[in-house]
Amino acid sequence: EAKLDGGDTCRVFTPEIVAQANLILTMRHRMRRALEEKQFKAHFQPQLDLQTNRVVGTEALARWIDPDGTMVPPGEFIPIAEDYGLIDEICIQVLQDACRWTARWNAMGFGPISVAVNISGRQFHNPRQLMDIVGNALDLLGLPAHLLELELTESTAMSDPENASKVMRLFTDRGIGCSIDDFGTGYSSLSVLKRFALRKLKIDRSFVRDVTTDANDAAICAAIIAMAHALNLKVCAEGVETTDQLAFLREQVCDQVQGFLIARPLPPVDLERLLRDGVPDHAS
Ligand code: C2E
Ligand code: MG
Ligand code: MG
Ligand code: MG
Repeated sequence: EAKLDGGDTCRVFTPEIVAQANLILTMRHRMRRALEEKQFKAHFQPQLDLQTNRVVGTEALARWIDPDGTMVPPGEFIPIAEDYGLIDEICIQVLQDACRWTARWNAMGFGPISVAVNISGRQFHNPRQLMDIVGNALDLLGLPAHLLELELTESTAMSDPENASKVMRLFTDRGIGCSIDDFGTGYSSLSVLKRFALRKLKIDRSFVRDVTTDANDAAICAAIIAMAHALNLKVCAEGVETTDQLAFLREQVCDQVQGFLIARPLPPVDLERLLRDGVPDHAS
């Protein structure tokens, strides 16, 4: 029994609270062990260039693959890893996977093919440390900097535009590309956006979903594509699932698409097979 806050409030640690605390400790312990055993891997989703119909890049998406084969999606472990201070170590494993496979695919002649890695809000606030982690991965695995791209969500970037500018400048100066992820869901100030050292905007999939049936979503997608081009940026549409969505995006001269229509995020050997065999007919 514990007495908190002095006064007359007396809080008791109930069995439920104890169980909850144990669960958290267990999770932390499991993640530590998973890190030691290198269970955090990258899966790769192709990005198709609509001008050339070539896979010009992939996005590396973190997966926790348990020895029993269970796959935990990033939405379930990234926030916890951030709280436990384990995000950097997970990022290192994903980055090393990303750089290793991408260097290989370029060496095999499938290139130039780039890779995009997601940066968490927590890491964003420590640019120097992030730069060390990223620089080490590039050096270790021999990937040229221009083939790496860092994705920062619009809401993270706009939560601290000053810092976002610094981060992007730092990485761009080293030849690494920067893109804004989930664009359209945050609150962008256009005067801020124009000062970012950016390579690409990624249209959030919530706008792509109903693009063929909802006139507002169609207008938003068209406007984002036009604005990106006016600012000399590439634009990639996320979450493309149907041929109708693809046709619309082609018509609007969107540069790249990513989505289940082309391929789901794939284990590296499967992505390699796709590079060899080409994308499915319905996607090109
Ligand atoms: P994101 O960066 O916006 O990644 C795209 C997400 O959309 C992925 O989910 C992908 O599987 C999913 N997706 C792709 N195409 C389609 C489609 O056609 N339809 C639908 N319904 N979904 C599609 P995933 O892999 O579960 O990742 C979720 C989020 O977790 C990512 O969103 C990203 O913000 C974060 N994340 C993933 N890997 C990492 C990582 O290594 N580090 C950090 N900090 N965050 C990561
Ligand atoms: Mg992303
Ligand atoms: Mg996204
Ligand atoms: Mg997202």
